[in-house]
Amino acid sequence: MPASTSTRVFHRQLHHDLPVAVSGQGISITDSAGKAYLDASGGAAVSCLGHGHPDVIAAMHAQIDKLAYAHTSFFTTEVAEELADLLIESAPEGMSHAYFVSGGSEAVEAALKMARQYFVEIGQPQRRHFIARRQSYHGNTLGALAVGGNAWRREQFKPLLINVAHVAPCYEYRDRREDESAEQYGQRLVAELSATIEQLGPENVIAFVAETVGGATAGVLPPVPGYFRGVRELCDRHGILLILDEVMCGMGRTGTLHACEQEGVVPDLVTIAKGLGGGYQPIGAVLAQARLVDTFRQGSGLFQHGHTYLGHAVACAAALAVQQVIRRDGLLAQVRSRGEAFQARLLEAFSSHPHVGDIRGRGLFWGLELVTDRRSKQWFDPDLKLHARIKKAAMAEGLMVYPMGGTVDGRCGDHVLLAPPFVASEAELA
Ligand code: PLP
Repeated sequence: MPASTSTRVFHRQLHHDLPVAVSGQGISITDSAGKAYLDASGGAAVSCLGHGHPDVIAAMHAQIDKLAYAHTSFFTTEVAEELADLLIESAPEGMSHAYFVSGGSEAVEAALKMARQYFVEIGQPQRRHFIARRQSYHGNTLGALAVGGNAWRREQFKPLLINVAHVAPCYEYRDRREDESAEQYGQRLVAELSATIEQLGPENVIAFVAETVGGATAGVLPPVPGYFRGVRELCDRHGILLILDEVMCGMGRTGTLHACEQEGVVPDLVTIAKGLGGGYQPIGAVLAQARLVDTFRQGSGLFQHGHTYLGHAVACAAALAVQQVIRRDGLLAQVRSRGEAFQARLLEAFSSHPHVGDIRGRGLFWGLELVTDRRSKQWFDPDLKLHARIKKAAMAEGLMVYPMGGTVDGRCGDHVLLAPPFVASEAELA
């Protein structure tokens, strides 16, 4: 039975009939007609362990049997504490606490508010501005939408609630000039950020917010070498916080647990979600530097952001199990080695395709940028809705890929994102 016209669920897209997913196993999902779909994108880079993982399901069952939910203004739980310990053990240097929320947008909202409240607590309430990047995505809630740089998503909700200046993303394929090296290009971007900080007044800026590896707007944008080190130095010089959004690229997706490890930088706050719970439960988190948490502890003693489902016990149990499986089964190394094989396959299949302008990524996080012609790098007319047609065609073939794009003035273009589960075999990747 296709859903949508006959459904009472208010679906996000009202002009499409959706198949009804009834079961999932390994890297595929089966619909009510018995058709199987190979999940080459992990939904939206979520299902890092694929579907139906027995260890995660057992952990969730065990937690439900013991305790499904206890409100965090009354209790902490063993499982939330254990998950926080595990995450902090492997977090970037200096991180001391994990703040659990229900997903990526909420993690970004919490990080933005944490950063603002931090400056209020230390007596710098004049800091009111965030700086973020164009062609970025940080979520759909109003704060996250305000820092995000996807013009199409933002447009009808303007003016958004917080002050955000946008600078260029790190988009080497389109924006690096022929006469500059990757490093020089990165320095040029840092110089632009510096100029924006000066314009706003460095004493007025709260934080720079960026996805370490861009994801859901421009089809995977890895940073050039040295870019984030330059950003970090600049932020430090002005006492500005660095918030890295690793909701999509974090938790092993790029081959290291945190993508920022590969950049040699430590953020003040990092947001994680999708691969944290692998889709088994809705969960996200903000990992915070000790310095920030200590300020709250010694100051107001309260982060003003409590939501009802913070640190939900079953969500924490699912995430704990997912993270334990990743460590136990050596999946980070597997992401790196299978990622290399996957890259080779993608290059073999598409590097001379007339409409694939660029193939870029890290680990098991890959994007294909679609162009009318490789030399001009021109995007397709957004009215063609190419990305939507690709998705439909792929689904007809029993393949899930995550296409995005559309707005040319907002500079998105059409892209296809591939983020297969870490457990995908070489044969499945092929
Ligand atoms: N941040 C990034 C980098 C994302 O890719 C996403 C979702 O794609 C979000 C935030 C929002 O996460 P959620 O959809 O879980 O609210």
